[in-house]
Amino acid sequence: MAVLVTGGAGYIGSHAVAALLEKGEQVVVVDNLAQGHRKAVLGGKLYVGDIRDAEFLSNVFAENEIDGVIHFAASSLVGESMQDPAKYYRNNVYGTLCLLEQMHKSDVKRIVFSSTAAAYGEPERTPIDEFDRTLPTNTYGETKLSMERMIRWFDVAHGIKYVSLRYFNAAGAHESGRIGEDHSPETHLVPLVLQAALGQRSHISVFGDDYPTVDGTCVRDYVHVSDLADAHLLALERLCNGGESGIFNLGSGQGFTVKQVIDVARQVTGREIQAKYEPRRAGDPAALVASPARAIRELGWTPRRDRLEDIIASAWQWHVNHPEGYGQD
Ligand code: UDP
Repeated sequence: MAVLVTGGAGYIGSHAVAALLEKGEQVVVVDNLAQGHRKAVLGGKLYVGDIRDAEFLSNVFAENEIDGVIHFAASSLVGESMQDPAKYYRNNVYGTLCLLEQMHKSDVKRIVFSSTAAAYGEPERTPIDEFDRTLPTNTYGETKLSMERMIRWFDVAHGIKYVSLRYFNAAGAHESGRIGEDHSPETHLVPLVLQAALGQRSHISVFGDDYPTVDGTCVRDYVHVSDLADAHLLALERLCNGGESGIFNLGSGQGFTVKQVIDVARQVTGREIQAKYEPRRAGDPAALVASPARAIRELGWTPRRDRLEDIIASAWQWHVNHPEGYGQD
């Protein structure tokens, strides 16, 4: 029996693959390598192709005894999603439809879905729990919410059980030092700040300093990527044990402003990091902080690497050792 990981060559996907391998699971990865990296897949069987290609996907299911799916494959940039919404509907919503249809055809009944805090939009209160309003402020969040809902209707109709994991801000790198964050172009705060520390960028742009927060910059909840990865294994275990479908926040429960993240990065790296203030980025809510209580209680999840200093230090180790990321692969 194998676990299929779509998008397993991406940042969070590759850490989930590593965690599955460490647990001794058989892993099948599907990735079109549009964003992912071959070198990020530390083991298992890699199929390079697109989940929207029905023949390709049906072949993957025919060649392997897939028991459960962890679905990461998606476009995930807030800024880009505001400029090219069609891309997000095609890759994310239509891609998920293709995957679910194939799962139904192949009688695969378990899916762990990579969702996002962006599904909430501007929260009504902090910290956010799973029953709070979902009103995305960007196309990325909107498509992820649509995907979640689509999966729910496949559960109702076909009994495909799901766990949807709403991540807050993933950061950090694997303790082995072999995998980490490498997006092209990079748009995420932590890697950009560390690239500035390395001298690869002249400065970090801070998007907006007029938010209603302690210092005017956006508040986010940073969670270590390996803690996220662990949650996927627990979610799959829940489904394998006959557990109910459900939605869970994955965050540390602590919020940090963009300015605070930059300050911690200055301490951790001992380098100068110049910050320049720029206008707000379209679609960014002021503050997103999770209540992870439900995941802790019902999945038995513990965000173990929960100090921002440690999360940034682990990312820093990756950046220092891989200044060009995975390089050409
Ligand atoms: N951010 C920033 N400068 C950057 C990139 C991000 O000020 O160059 C801010 C962004 O506005 C958000 C936070 O950092 O408030 C985290 O952004 P990121 O893109 O890392 O993750 P997101 O919250 O969009 O998932």
